[in-house]
Amino acid sequence: MSYISPTKIDEALEVLSRGSGKIIAGGTDVYPSAQLGQHPDFYMDVTRIDGLKRISVSKDIVHFGSAVTWTDIINADLGSAFDALKATAREVGSVQIQNAATLAGNVCNASPAADGVPPLLALDASVELASRAQGSRLLPLAEFITGVRSTVLRRDEMVVGLQVPVPPSTMTSAFEKLGSRRYLVISICMTAVNLVLDQDNRITDARIAVGACSAVAQRLPALEASVIGQRPADVEIKPEFLAPLTPINDVRGAAAYRYDVVQEQCRRAIMQAASR
Ligand SMILES: Cc1cc2nc3c(=O)[nH]c(=O)nc-3n(C[C@H](O)[C@H](O)[C@H](O)COP(=O)(O)OP(=O)(O)OC[C@H]3O[C@@H](n4cnc5c(N)ncnc54)[C@H](O)[C@@H]3O)c2cc1C
Repeated sequence: MSYISPTKIDEALEVLSRGSGKIIAGGTDVYPSAQLGQHPDFYMDVTRIDGLKRISVSKDIVHFGSAVTWTDIINADLGSAFDALKATAREVGSVQIQNAATLAGNVCNASPAADGVPPLLALDASVELASRAQGSRLLPLAEFITGVRSTVLRRDEMVVGLQVPVPPSTMTSAFEKLGSRRYLVISICMTAVNLVLDQDNRITDARIAVGACSAVAQRLPALEASVIGQRPADVEIKPEFLAPLTPINDVRGAAAYRYDVVQEQCRRAIMQAASR
């Protein structure tokens, strides 16, 4: 087994075309899940590749390179639509984890409890992929993750970055996470909300995403539609709006408890986003 650390994207794609290696960024998911005696042919570290550690903002797109860490996100100058993503970053693991771990690694690991996925869904994020054989492709995040720890990533492909269409300047956002303690904890469930309000304090745009309550985090379109035209304090989170969720009973919480929590998280996140 070898450790390869390319500095150019072309070099990285050439390495990936060679055989079954494992991409590594912060390593905070890869190393804890490594099995004794089972090694890939090589580990390819993507954190030294030119340009991948950059967050760039153009007229239409906010681009997060795939080596961007949670700490980079906390320190970035982004608009209020990204407050939920920043709040997420502050709650991932601990400061040490935030310094090493990447947003892209969180998405590629495809855990149902990956904290980064709901805020990215609420930002309409897409995943930018590249391979030597097939070139580049851009997929909505909702199409990239297909199940528990499963994505459409091909063996010779890597994530180059995440793209977010520049949100309206009036968009605000909030993130609610529940764990059994404040830090270093896997989420029982989490909710991200992005809102636009008009001058009459009525909601004109709403994006609401929930994680750890289905195999893949998801938006709640019926709830989003129901809040349009309403004032935040009048919003009612009816149980039928949560119908797409399929929470399970596990060591962290019962399914019925998760439904209750999500209802409350949606209400709190809407009020919090609206207050910004
Ligand atoms: C103590 C501890 C606490 C944690 N707390 C949280 C938490 O609160 N919330 C949370 O969501 N997660 C948490 N995690 C999990 C982990 O830190 C995050 O998921 C993190 O964002 C993963 O990023 P990474 O760069 O370390 O990924 P890595 O471990 O390097 O990689 C993760 C997966 O993504 C793949 N990958 C990475 N980069 C690319 C790329 N560019 N292209 C294609 N595939 C790629 C790897 O092959 C691997 O399958 C915690 C982990 C630890 C050890």
